[in-house]
Amino acid sequence: MSRSRRHSHMRVARRRALQKVAIPHLVPCPKCKTPKLPHHVCPTCGTYAGRQVVPVEEAGRRAS
Ligand SMILES: [Zn+2]
Repeated sequence: MSRSRRHSHMRVARRRALQKVAIPHLVPCPKCKTPKLPHHVCPTCGTYAGRQVVPVEEAGRRAS
């Protein structure tokens, strides 16, 4: 039996349809407009809720 017939195409297609592609929800940073995760410190400028939380150079390092 060929490898491609272990599961029918419909069976594979239905399974894959259930797997949602993990699209990270991103919001623009209010300061530098870089797309960032909501409720997270911006990795680019290190601000959160309008406050400087992490020094800029450290924020860049933490993201790497
Ligand atoms: Zn930012």
